Amino acid sequence: MIPGRVTEIQRDQYTVITEQGEVTAVLKGAFYHTAGTREDFPCVGDFVFIHYNENGASRIAKLLPRHSKFSRADYSGHAAGHVKTILEQVVATNFDYVFIVSSLNWDFKVSRIVRYLTQARQSGGQPVVILTKADLAPDFGAQLAEVQRTAPDVPVHVVSSHTGSGLEGLSEYLQLGKTVVFLGMSGVGKSSLLNALMNQEVMTVKGIREVDSRGRHTTTHRQLFMLPSGAMVIDTPGMRELGLFGADDGISAGFNDVEELFTQCRFNDCSHQTEPGCAVRAALANGLLAREHWKRYLVQKRENKFVDDKSGYLMDKRAWQKSIALTHKGKKGGYKK
Ligand code: GDP
Ligand code: ZN
Repeated sequence: MIPGRVTEIQRDQYTVITEQGEVTAVLKGAFYHTAGTREDFPCVGDFVFIHYNENGASRIAKLLPRHSKFSRADYSGHAAGHVKTILEQVVATNFDYVFIVSSLNWDFKVSRIVRYLTQARQSGGQPVVILTKADLAPDFGAQLAEVQRTAPDVPVHVVSSHTGSGLEGLSEYLQLGKTVVFLGMSGVGKSSLLNALMNQEVMTVKGIREVDSRGRHTTTHRQLFMLPSGAMVIDTPGMRELGLFGADDGISAGFNDVEELFTQCRFNDCSHQTEPGCAVRAALANGLLAREHWKRYLVQKRENKFVDDKSGYLMDKRAWQKSIALTHKGKKGGYKK
C-alpha cells in the first residue's frame, strides 16, 4: 500500500497523486459495504492509502482522518416535501486556509463575508478575506475598514488579479505543502485569482455575458492545483454551491458576544422577546449590542435551522420572525413582515 492524495474525482474514478506519480484508482468494495454515509467516501483533498497495481486497477483501501472539511447539504433523491434525511456531501478536505473571496465592486456586502466566515470557522480551516478587483475600486478604504471592523481577528488582503497588486501579500499562506480553498460567489474573480497565482490559464474566466447554465468551462478537469510555490488550491464544483450545513459551531465562533449575553438572561429558556430580565433586549436598548449584529445572528441561525432540520425550522420560523420584527420595532421605516 502507498499513501496519496485525491486530486480529482470523475464518477467512480479517482485520481490520486502518489510517490509513483498520478495514479487512477477505484474504491475497494469494502467502502460500499461499510461506509455509512456519503461523508465516508473519499473526496478531493483526502489522504488515502491505495493498493498500487502497476499493471491494472489500483484500489483505494483506506481513508485517513481529515483535519478540515467543507460539506454541503445534498437534497438529491428526495421528493419535494420529504426532507427527513438530508445527506452530507463532503466537497473538499484537508485545507489549511479558506480564502473568502469578495469583489470590491458591485457585489460587495459585509453580511455575506460574515456568513462565509461562519462557514470557514466551522470547517477547520483558517479564514483569510480576499477583496478582489482593486483596480476597479481605487477608493476601497471604507470597504476595507468595514471588513476589519466586523472581523478584527481575520486578515484581510486587497488584490487585483489583473494588475497583480497585492498578490505578493498572499505568499505567507501559499507555502510549500499548504492547501487553500476559495469560497465566494460566482463572478468575484476566483478563477482569475487562481490563474494569476498559477502564472498560467488553468481556469477559463467568464466573460460578463457567457455565464452558462452548467457553470464554467475549465481548461482542465483538475480539482486540485499545485502552485509554483508548492502550495495547493482545491477548486471543486461543490465548493461553488456551498450551503450552510450544521454550522452551529461556526455561528458561536462568530457571535461569541451574542451567546455570552444569553447566559446573562434571567431565564435559561429565554426567547429574548418579552421575558423580564432579558440581557439581549437590555443590550439592544442601551446600544451595547448592535441591532445589525443581532439581526445577522438571527438570520444565520434561521438558515442553519433550515438545513439541519426542516420541520424544526418551520416550527421556529414564526418565533424568529417575531424576534426580528421586535428588533426593528421603533426603527424608522420599520421592518415589513
Ligand atoms: P469566478 O466566477 O469567481 O471564478 O470569477 P472570474 O475569475 O471568472 O471573474 C469574473 C469576471 O471578473 C471576469 O470578467 C474577470 O475578467 C473579472 N475579474 C476578475 N478579477 C479581476 C480583477 O482583478 N480586476 C478586474 N478589473 N476584473 C477582474
Ligand atoms: Zn433573553
